[in-house]
Amino acid sequence: MQNIQEIIKEKLRYLEDKGVKSSNFELKLMLANLLNIEVGNLRFFHDNISQDTLNKFNEMIEQRASFCPVDKILGYKGFYKHDFIVNQDVLSPRSDTEILVEQALKNIDRTTNTNILEFGVGSGCIIISLLSDLPLAQGLGVDISPKALTICKKNAKKIGVSDRLELKNISWFDDLWQTQDKLFDLIISNPPYIPTQDINSLDKEVKIFDPILALDGGSDGLRDYRQIIEIVPSLLKNSGILILEAGIDQASDIIKIGNNNGLKAIDVVKDLNNIERCIILKK
Ligand code: GLN
Repeated sequence: MQNIQEIIKEKLRYLEDKGVKSSNFELKLMLANLLNIEVGNLRFFHDNISQDTLNKFNEMIEQRASFCPVDKILGYKGFYKHDFIVNQDVLSPRSDTEILVEQALKNIDRTTNTNILEFGVGSGCIIISLLSDLPLAQGLGVDISPKALTICKKNAKKIGVSDRLELKNISWFDDLWQTQDKLFDLIISNPPYIPTQDINSLDKEVKIFDPILALDGGSDGLRDYRQIIEIVPSLLKNSGILILEAGIDQASDIIKIGNNNGLKAIDVVKDLNNIERCIILKK
């Protein structure tokens, strides 16, 4: 009988041969999920692993060998303080995006009933994390994908914020935004920002398993920032803020688009890789 470390080593070698960049941690995460224990407790697990568990683990390894990312094999991803349900209909929550949540919480008045709007909710990881930390806040989340909204709705229910989150299947290119009269304290978005011609060179985990709608930002990657920034000034309170995730080297272009629409950048926050990831703008 092989021990856990031997099984993991063998599977890692198998995945490497298939051209998949996996890790000890990823495989432990999947095994711990099957054994229904915390990943940190795997080292205390000395029982034999049943044939049934091994078979299920092998199935997961085969999914990983076809480049499915671990979160989409397990069906959930940890983001900020919660596990979010995910599938191929939503962009996998990225740890870099947690910066947007942290910055929003830092810049918001917790003592009033803040109105939040998120463009492109996907799994809902951003707005649901905010509503969960801000018990007085209300949210409106929009997404062009009805399938993404189905997942977002499930996450809102699971995390207990459904009663404060309204979801709408609408695009930011819709004319409705010209006539909308409700104003928001915080507008937040991680829009699609990968230039179309770069999509093909993305990792297969992203290219195959994240929805293209959540990735493709048009020929220069800035198409959705232009539209969002154009409609935001009429949706934002005078004291309100706009928080945007930026792709690599996009911060200065986004700030320029903001300036052309009467918004000024009050902060740019870098991620752990030193990339300008989060832009905060004000009227
Ligand atoms: N951050 C994602 C990536 O690097 C892209 C998400 C987006 O376009 N907003 O793959």
